[in-house]
Amino acid sequence: MSAHHDVLGMAREQLSVAAKYLDLDAGLHQVLSKPMRQLIVNFPVVLDNGEVMCFEGYRVQHNSSRGPTKGGIRYHPDVDVNETTALAMWMTWKCAVVNIPYGGAKGSVKVDTKQFSRREIEKLTRRYVTEINMILGERSDIPAPDIGTNAQTMAWIMDTFSMQKGYTVPGVVTGKPVDLGGSLGRVEATGRGVIVATEEAAKTMNMNLGGAKVIVQGFGNVGATAAKIAEEHGATVVGISDAVGGIYNPKGLPIAELTNRYAGREGGIQEYKEAEKVTNKELLELDCDVLIPAAIAAQIDESNANKIKAKLLVEGANGPCTFEADKILHDRGIHVVPDILANAGGVVVSYFEWVQDLQNFFWEEDRVNDQLTKIMQRAYGQVDATMRQHKTDMRTAALIIGVKRVADATVRRGIFP
Ligand code: GLU
Repeated sequence: MSAHHDVLGMAREQLSVAAKYLDLDAGLHQVLSKPMRQLIVNFPVVLDNGEVMCFEGYRVQHNSSRGPTKGGIRYHPDVDVNETTALAMWMTWKCAVVNIPYGGAKGSVKVDTKQFSRREIEKLTRRYVTEINMILGERSDIPAPDIGTNAQTMAWIMDTFSMQKGYTVPGVVTGKPVDLGGSLGRVEATGRGVIVATEEAAKTMNMNLGGAKVIVQGFGNVGATAAKIAEEHGATVVGISDAVGGIYNPKGLPIAELTNRYAGREGGIQEYKEAEKVTNKELLELDCDVLIPAAIAAQIDESNANKIKAKLLVEGANGPCTFEADKILHDRGIHVVPDILANAGGVVVSYFEWVQDLQNFFWEEDRVNDQLTKIMQRAYGQVDATMRQHKTDMRTAALIIGVKRVADATVRRGIFP
């Protein structure tokens, strides 16, 4: 379903809808529908057995009107330059919706990390960064983690970039380990922000997260953290999945135990026996109040959108609902909190990390979490108000705000030369 879905087409359709509401100038619309810069690299890595293997990678910068470009680096076998471009475009809108001073970018390498050793992934990372380092920089383009990468990957990126500069540049990448200039709270930030958005949505729907039945698709950083924090807020997580498959128990699942004993191991969370095994597809259609897709794009489309039972759907992943699914979900009265709002907590704390790195002054975790919550609540309120004003769905409202901020910045700066 997802591997060959046209996510760039999906991102452009979303932009067109917002452009209509904004009565956006045709030339400006054209500019925003394209990435400002796409770099495609092919590079060799010497594997542990001495063989040479060639990898393809990308770094796409979509728009820098509001500041340096920002966005994660993804390691996944299905990536391509178009998907990376769509993800870069979403980063532009995401940073604008939460009003942080960045444009959007995304990077990726076509690789199944499970097939390679830690040493091979380190070499791949260092060579990939070397191939794209001329467009990276703490003032120009700042990567972060995404699917298949983590704090260790970011440490290698920081080290590689710094070795080539001749001095340490912590601000060139975020999501670093805390002892190398990372921020407290960054690992949990995306999942934490997803739950802040869920709570804000619940308030407007006369629902309570405490006591609600929650299903989370995905048990990576975002899904596992969202599930954990939902549980802390008194919700019952009845279903969850990883790349292997899902598990369901209407009485609830022990998130900490799943994290400590099953996640990332052979067989995954399905090895936990006190639950019914389901597929990733079946999981989405089970009975619940809140559904949090936190895996990959295009999981909910025209084939299953009419089978979703949740009243509230909060997008932890980027692009989990297709353009067609959006219409069906809206007609069915299911409230969708869109990715560019719901999962913005990650890049918000990346922004805090970058500010801390530039100032060499580090914050306490409470300050990080409080500021994150404030920004998420403020953005949620603005998007909610725009949604009511235009009588539209929440994705369109978020895009209206995000696209308008980027368009306004472009117009005010003027077109060079
Ligand atoms: N990869 C994350 C996202 O999709 C985080 C990006 C960042 O922190 O720069 O939002």
